[in-house]
Amino acid sequence: MAYVITEECIACGSCISECPVEAISEGDIYVIDPDLCTDCGSCADVCPSEAIHPDK
Ligand code: SF4
Repeated sequence: MAYVITEECIACGSCISECPVEAISEGDIYVIDPDLCTDCGSCADVCPSEAIHPDK
């Protein structure tokens, strides 16, 4: 499993520095590499748009 960033992302950049495994990439909306994500949840905690959720 991995966390995913939804269309609610405003590309603020808050999550990038929180990820301990550098799984998050910048873009129009940010993207989490599911092969790197360890499901720690750090990024979801800091997202002001609540755009980051665990994938199903
Ligand atoms: Fe990185 Fe943790 Fe977010 Fe996965 S859940 S992208 S490991 S900060």
